[in-house]
Parts: sequence; C-alpha cells; structure tokens
Amino acid sequence: MNKEEIFKSLDLTDAELKGGSLYVNSPGDGSLIGHIHMTDVEDADHKIHDSVRAFKEWRTVPAPKRGELIRIFGNILREKKEALGALVTLECGKIYQEGLGEVQEMIDICDFAVGLSRQLYGLTIASERPGHKMREYWQPLGPVGIISAFNFPVAVWAWNAALAVVCGNSVIWKPSEKTPVTAIAVQKLFERACAEFGEAPAGLSQLIIGERNIGEELVNDHRVPLISATGSCRMGRDVGQKVAARFGKTILELGGNNAIIVTPNADLDLAFQGILFGAVGTCGQRCTSTRRLFVHEDVYDQLVPRLKEAYGGLSIGDPLDEKTLVGPLIDEDSFNNMQKALEKAADQGGEVFGGGRALQEMYPDAYYVHPAIVEMPASVDNVREETFAPILYIFKYSDLETAIERQNDVPQGLSSSIFTTDVCEAELFTSEAGSDCGIANVNIGTSGAEIGGAFGGEKETGGGRESGSDAWKGYMRRMTSTLNYSKELPLAQGIKFGS
Ligand code: NAD
Repeated sequence: MNKEEIFKSLDLTDAELKGGSLYVNSPGDGSLIGHIHMTDVEDADHKIHDSVRAFKEWRTVPAPKRGELIRIFGNILREKKEALGALVTLECGKIYQEGLGEVQEMIDICDFAVGLSRQLYGLTIASERPGHKMREYWQPLGPVGIISAFNFPVAVWAWNAALAVVCGNSVIWKPSEKTPVTAIAVQKLFERACAEFGEAPAGLSQLIIGERNIGEELVNDHRVPLISATGSCRMGRDVGQKVAARFGKTILELGGNNAIIVTPNADLDLAFQGILFGAVGTCGQRCTSTRRLFVHEDVYDQLVPRLKEAYGGLSIGDPLDEKTLVGPLIDEDSFNNMQKALEKAADQGGEVFGGGRALQEMYPDAYYVHPAIVEMPASVDNVREETFAPILYIFKYSDLETAIERQNDVPQGLSSSIFTTDVCEAELFTSEAGSDCGIANVNIGTSGAEIGGAFGGEKETGGGRESGSDAWKGYMRRMTSTLNYSKELPLAQGIKFGS
C-alpha cells in the first residue's frame, strides 16, 4: 500500500493534511506526510466545553448500550486494519507487522470493553446497623484527557478511550506532535462509528493537535477530572504535579528501564528469542523494550556471542518492506541521544558492539541505526537512565539475589523478566522479594503485553494501570451508599445522640 492508497482508504483529505504549521515527516525516508493544522487555545477551550456537554448526555446512556458503540468501532477497525497499520508504519516508523499488531491491540481492547460494558460491578457490603444496606457504585467521571506518546500513536488512545467510553465518559485526545495524522485517521473512524450507532452525543471524542503547550490546556483545566498521560518521566513529573495541584486524578504511564535475567537453568534458545525481540523490536522504541540484560557467568559465553552474531545479521530498512526487522529511529534527536549514551558507556569501560548509523546514503533524511550491544565492565553496577533507542547493556552476574537487586536498583519500574526452568528461581522472581516492576514475566521477554492484564509500572514509571483486569475503575468514581429501610435511625458505632 503506498501513501496515496493509505490516505484514500482512511478517507484523509487534503484539507486535513495540508495548510497547517505542524510539519510531519515520515521517519522511514524523511518525506513530508503533511502539514497539519494545530488547535489553538481558544479552540481547545471550546472542545473541552463540548466534551463536558457530551459527557452529561452520555453518562445516562446504559452501559451495555455504550458498549454497542465500541463494538461498532471495533468492527470498523477490523475493516481498516491494513490501512491504519500501514499509516502507523508510515508516521512512526515501526515495521508493518508491528503497525498491524498495534491496530490489533485496538481491536482487542474494544472487544474487552464491550464485555466490560455488562460487568461494571459494584459491591454490596454488610451494614452494622439493622434494616440497613450498604452498596458501592461506580459512576462515570467526566471528560478524560488522553495525552499520548509517538511510539504507540493509536493503541494507547484506544486502551484509554475504549474503557473510558463504556464507563460513561467523554474523551479528549492530545496525540504526540510527531504522530498527528494517525490520530486524525482514528478520530474519523470513531466519528463514523458514532454516526452508525446513531445515538452518541456530538463531541463524545475530541482531538486537539499541537505541542506540549496544548497538552497543558488539558492538564490545567478543572473541567477534566482525569488525565491519562503516556510519555517520558520528565513529562509525567510535570503533568502529575499540575493535576495534583488542582486535585484531579492521573493515570501516568511513563518511561521504563526494563531488564531480563538469564539464569544458568534457562532454556537459552527461548532466552535468545525473547531478548532479541525485546531489545531490537520497534528499534528499541517501546516503553517495555529490553534495555538491560543480566546473564549468569556460567551461560554468558553461550548466549552473548550468539546475540552478537544475530545483531550482525539483522535486516534494517524500509519499515513497510515485510522483510525488514528493524525500522528507523523517530528523528535526529533520538539518534543523537543514542550516540551520546554509547559514548558515555564507552567512557565507563563498556565494550560497544554496533550502534552506528545505517543506510545513510540511501536515506540521508532518515535515521536508521545498527542496534547496539554494550558489554558492561564489572566496575559499573547499573545503567539508570532510559535511552529511547536500541541499546542493550549486558552485565555478568554470579548470584540471583544480587541480580534481582541490581535489576530493581533503577528509578523506573515498568517491565522485567526472568528466563529459567527452575521453579524456585521463577517463584522468587515473582514473589514479594523479587521484581519490583508492574510487569514480571517468566520465560517471555519484557515487551509485548496482552490487553487482558493491567498494564503499567511502579516508581518513576508513574504507578498508573491501563487496559485489562480492573483498570476500568481508574475511569470511574466510587460511590458508597447506605440505605435505611427500617423505621429507626440507629447511628454507626452505636453512638447515642439525644434521647
Ligand atoms: P514525551 O514525554 O516527549 O511526549 C509524550 C506526550 O506528552 C506528547 O504528546 C507531548 O506533546 C506531551 N507532553 C510533553 N510534555 C508535556 C507537558 N509538560 N504537559 C503536557 N503534555 C506534555 O514522550 P515521547 O518521546 O513521545 O515518547 C517516549 C516516551 O514515552 C518514553 O519515555 C517511553 O518509555 C514512554 N512511553 C511509556 C509508555 C507506558 O505505557 N509506560 C508507553 C509508550 C511510551
């Protein structure tokens, strides 16, 4: 599918793709995708106003009916999966298989949300007072602000929006300024779903496009009770404090510094595959990408040379070409950050393998790289920053407790995994004395979560949870209600008040 076919299939018009001041280039070859209109502050204010109005209507629509809208939307996504997947590839540079996977994730969360729309369960709680009943309800919250990062330009919105909408909320989306075109395409598909559904209020889903300043409009606006923000820890620190200052709620999904531990009891073939996809997939630009590897000294020489050999033979290139495994970095800044991190590691005594620019002559305006392995010397105990690029730091270890401690000894706490066939090692890793991350896998890598589980991480990753399990509760407000069906008015705790 070429660019024009993608635009046509997604019904993207010249008016939407041209005439604005936000220039969007494809990371694959640097070519211009469009110059997009940005939302100004006044327009953002109107959209928030409309979102409040839409919420007030939508919250009274029965939840299973709200699910019907998401069912229709999921079916539209099925119909447009190839075109939208290709647009994701064009705009953010991940390979086509991963572009398709991202749209599949949207479809999966829609299915989940449709089921959920009949399961927004509260509780009944035993009251201490005779003739009384206590209940817990979950109520819609209000407009939900969704701020998303460039590397999952559509799935992150869907994880949030599908749940928020069945929970009775309206949504306002501020996508990354690097990937507004996929956002426009998704907004149009959602509007088509609303039209087919027939009973959705106007403005149920809103899109505001621009840089961080327009995101700040959402962050600072008291009419938006929940901000779900995905991006760097720097962004989350700023957003979290501003929303807390107005007593709003946040779901923060921030940076990771994910590690894999390979024990002497590991199936090394599995470990090899898990590490390769985790470290190299999406060109190291997933929040769950594998950044650190702790390999036991007894298996180090069987595993690390094999990884290096595989790194030497990776197919790097056009992400739309189905044979490619490694697409480009998002932009020049990202490339420069990678080079700086590699220089720093070399200064610390790290032995760097790969890491240089690739295909520069063919694509002078794009930033392809050879994924890097850095064997770290024993003198360096850890790497504590996230560099959003394919760098895998490898450490040799000799005892598991220390390896787990080193894995945990970073500010971030998103994803982690252990490769072992020893049940005691696996159970230790997933115990209270094991990994301190939101995700702790056994015999699979750090990246590639399924939507059925709650997704998110601890510490500077922000503590938010999205997607499956009971993450929906984050999009609702909890109400406790005590009802008296007796003729008496006994007070709680046996308090006597008057005669
Ligand atoms: P980024 O922080 O630069 O930007 C993310 C979004 O936040 C963009 O839409 C941006 O415009 C907006 N933004 C930035 N500062 C803001 C502010 N002060 N107020 C309001 N909005 C603001 O991140 P990025 O480069 O797009 O994405 C990469 C980062 O995202 C990595 O750190 C990665 O680990 C993280 N990430 C995390 C998850 C997760 O689920 N934990 C998922 C994807 C990406």
